[in-house]
Amino acid sequence: MNNKIILFCGPSGSGKTTISQYLLKNNSNLCFSVSVTTREMRANEKDGEDYYFITKEEFQRKMANDEFIEWEEVYSGIFYGTLKDEVQRIWAMNKHAIFDVDVMGGLNIKKQFGDKALSVCVMPPSIEILRERLIARQSETPDSLEKRINKALTEMGYSNQFERIIINDDLQDSCRLAQGMLDEFLES
Ligand code: 5GP
Repeated sequence: MNNKIILFCGPSGSGKTTISQYLLKNNSNLCFSVSVTTREMRANEKDGEDYYFITKEEFQRKMANDEFIEWEEVYSGIFYGTLKDEVQRIWAMNKHAIFDVDVMGGLNIKKQFGDKALSVCVMPPSIEILRERLIARQSETPDSLEKRINKALTEMGYSNQFERIIINDDLQDSCRLAQGMLDEFLES
């Protein structure tokens, strides 16, 4: 099997996670690449499924050991990254790895994997709609909401560096579009 990588990137609240989850449910040849993070686990999350939750000290040790494909301080003091081992784990199962990472991380991974990777940027229809979605999600404090909005504005400026863009207005349409992009990429 020609193992590949599919990157779903975009601002927090753009819908990239929901689209990735849809593809995972409907394509048994895909496996989610679980990132490592130093942020606190949310009530609905599971260690080893949503993320590998580790301490900052552990994260730094892994950095020093060159264990990451890519890592980033996505928010001030909070680190995220993908371990080399994670992609090997997925490819060893003869599956393609699907990533849900931020824009800079996605561009970084695309640069390393070239034609083996498909980079897709998921964008909200507008920054106002993004704000509404983040508020509805109830996962943010007023301070973290503003941080996510500011980061989203920066990230939206990089969308033209992706191979494909999905403007996520209607989730069902976006999922269908994503499935089409996946099929085309895996056939190529
Ligand atoms: P959250 O805290 O909402 O789970 O994620 C915050 C942001 O970090 C999201 O945009 C998410 O996609 C991104 N992210 C998750 N894992 C990684 C990773 O391994 N590398 C990078 N650069 N970003 C990541």
